[in-house]
Formats: sequence, C-alpha cells, structure tokens
Amino acid sequence: MKPLLLVLSSPSGGGKTTIAKRLLQTRDDLGYSVSATTRGMRPEESDGVDYHFLPRKEFLRRQQAGEFLEWATYGGELYGTLKSEINRILSSGRHAVLDVEIEGARQIRAGFPSSLHLFVIPPSAGALIGRLTGRNTEPPELIRERITRAADELAAVSEYDYAILNQDVTLAVAQVAAILDAEAWRVSRQDSLHEFIDRLRHDVIAAASSIPVE
Ligand code: 5GP
Repeated sequence: MKPLLLVLSSPSGGGKTTIAKRLLQTRDDLGYSVSATTRGMRPEESDGVDYHFLPRKEFLRRQQAGEFLEWATYGGELYGTLKSEINRILSSGRHAVLDVEIEGARQIRAGFPSSLHLFVIPPSAGALIGRLTGRNTEPPELIRERITRAADELAAVSEYDYAILNQDVTLAVAQVAAILDAEAWRVSRQDSLHEFIDRLRHDVIAAASSIPVE
C-alpha cells in the first residue's frame, strides 16, 4: 500500500494520543508526526518527542516560511504539522500518524484527499472530564474552555471516515489496526494493482485464443 496520512482527532481528553502511542509501539509501518506548538511543555513530555516546543516568534517565522502542512489555534496556542515531519516518515515508506484537532484535519483533507481520518469518541462526559482534570496540567479556566470546545468538536464526527469508541484502549488500538489493514485492500490504495490486472488480462486473452475452436 502507498504510505498514507492517518489523521486521528478527538476532543481533548478523548484518548487519541494514548491510542496513537500504543499503535506506534505495536507496528513498525507507522511513524508519529511530531507537531510543533507554542504551548508550554507538561512535566511528562519531552521536546522533539511529544512536540517540538517553539517560542511563538519561531512558530510564526516557520509559518511565514511555508514550513507547515497545516496549523490551527487551540486554547490560545498555535499547533501545526511540519512538512519536514511528514516527508521524513513517508520517504521511509511508513504511514504518518497525525494527532490533530478538527480544523487541522479539515486542511489535511483538502490538501490530501486520500488521507484516512479517524475520530476517537470518549465513552462518556465523565471519562472525558476525568482525563482532562486528572492530568493536573491546565488551570481550571483552560479545562473549562477545552470541555466547551469538546462539545463542538464532537459534532464534527460526520466529517470522518471512521469513528471509534474509546471504552477500552487495547480494543480501540486493535480497531485502528484493523482499519489500517482493511485500507490496504482498497482498490485506490493498491500500488501495482493495475499493472498486475493488465498482465492478467493479457494472459487470460492469450489463454482463450489458444483454445482450439471446433
Ligand atoms: P494538547 O495541548 O492537549 O497536546 O493538544 C490540544 C489539541 O491540539 C489536541 O486536540 C491535539 O490533537 C491538537 N493538535 C496537536 N498537534 C496538532 C497539530 O499539529 N495541528 C493541529 N491542527 N492540531 C494539533
């Protein structure tokens, strides 16, 4: 299969980052696109692994220089996918996994119609809020903003190709893997299909003409 862009979206606290990370641990045909952001680093994060943490000025400079495939504002901070990340992953023959919010996903869909878009749904409001508050990384007003935005983001589910309920992470990861495997058989994603079919047709016609006619 041609390497593709696998876009994972969900409201903040929906669990998509955990799913993406677990998926990456179990498969070597995937690469994680490390986004750039202007938001502060959380204690458990590291620069260059979870995000490229950039000062706002540097983010804007790179934006001006056309280095982003897409970018969006979230909670007053800037987030964007670097073209260099995607090139690095695709040129190694792997699929690129992108963890982006809805606006960025729309930009990717517009620029790359063959990208695969998955929406991760939290099983309940309680689970979503529990994850957001349990992180203990954002002040209450930012948590409130994220929860309010989550309600709007949930309404965008119909723009996605697949929707997965994140009730059990292991199951959700297996479902994403199953979707990826099924996509490999999609006619439009099969690299050498047409070449093979041409040869097969040629052989079938040759076989037919070699059958003696009474
Ligand atoms: P967080 O601050 O919780 O890490 O991320 C906030 C939101 O920004 C999440 O919905 C996440 O998916 C999104 N996000 C992370 N990286 C990118 C990116 O490169 N582009 C866009 N558009 N959104 C991103």
